[in-house]
Amino acid sequence: MNPTEKTPKPEPLAQEPCEMNHSVLPQSTTAQEFPRRVMLRDGLRLAGVFGILGTGGYLVARQSSTDRYVWQIDPYLCTLCGRCATTCVLDESAVRCVHSYVMCGFCNRCMGFFDQKAAEFNSAAENQVCPTGAITRRWVQEEDYFEYIVNEDLCIGCGKCAVGCNAFGNGSLYLQIRQDRCKNCNHCAIADACPSQAIVRTPSDKPYLYKHLSEAAQKAASRDAANENDRDQQNSENKQNNLSNFGNATQNKKDSEGALE
Ligand code: SF4
Ligand code: SF4
Ligand code: SF4
Repeated sequence: MNPTEKTPKPEPLAQEPCEMNHSVLPQSTTAQEFPRRVMLRDGLRLAGVFGILGTGGYLVARQSSTDRYVWQIDPYLCTLCGRCATTCVLDESAVRCVHSYVMCGFCNRCMGFFDQKAAEFNSAAENQVCPTGAITRRWVQEEDYFEYIVNEDLCIGCGKCAVGCNAFGNGSLYLQIRQDRCKNCNHCAIADACPSQAIVRTPSDKPYLYKHLSEAAQKAASRDAANENDRDQQNSENKQNNLSNFGNATQNKKDSEGALE
């Protein structure tokens, strides 16, 4: 069936408990409650995301008391080339797909979820775009709102879902380096392979670049981080030069003392 054709309303998917244990919306939601619940859920979702990231945030803080920056993907620069899945130094890339729930969830023919040539719009594996079955979606209720859950143990960071989401939707699925997996290498190997310079340094106390922030705010944050990074690099170079000058001066003094003896 052509995905652009009208299709019957999908059956709600089985409402199994979320494997990641961060599903917070109650199973039954009335129409009146829905907007408030969605708002509440969005807030809690973000809290959930930060909750999951909490471990990562703690690890980042612990690992990088001296490192003030971590590597991250700028979702507005990433072109979803697929190299994130294969060029990380880790056997399993530190990159995972994330979903900004505040941006989207209203599409019942989501091309981040369904293969463009899907035989049917149901949850059968052959109809889904994800090669590892990492995305599950649950029809919430009212206005065809869907909840997407990415199982991070299955996601390989290939970005195929995000390609579909960008091609047909608003790009609410995108890739991020998960800080609880990333080793914060001195130089990120993905940065060398990335064709769009999308791997950037970001302050370790704000280690994720979320798309739900306004683009202007996001760019300002990236710019601040880049400026501060440049300043740090300049300071470190100055320090190196000072040390080197000091070494030369000491050597010169020794040489002249030797000449006088
Ligand atoms: S399509 Fe790729 S990036 Fe998206 S959830 Fe599946 S494995 Fe992860
Ligand atoms: S910094 Fe290292 S571990 Fe982290 S994403 Fe880049 S290559 Fe992978
Ligand atoms: S290598 Fe760069 S462009 Fe390709 S998926 Fe990763 S961040 Fe995006």
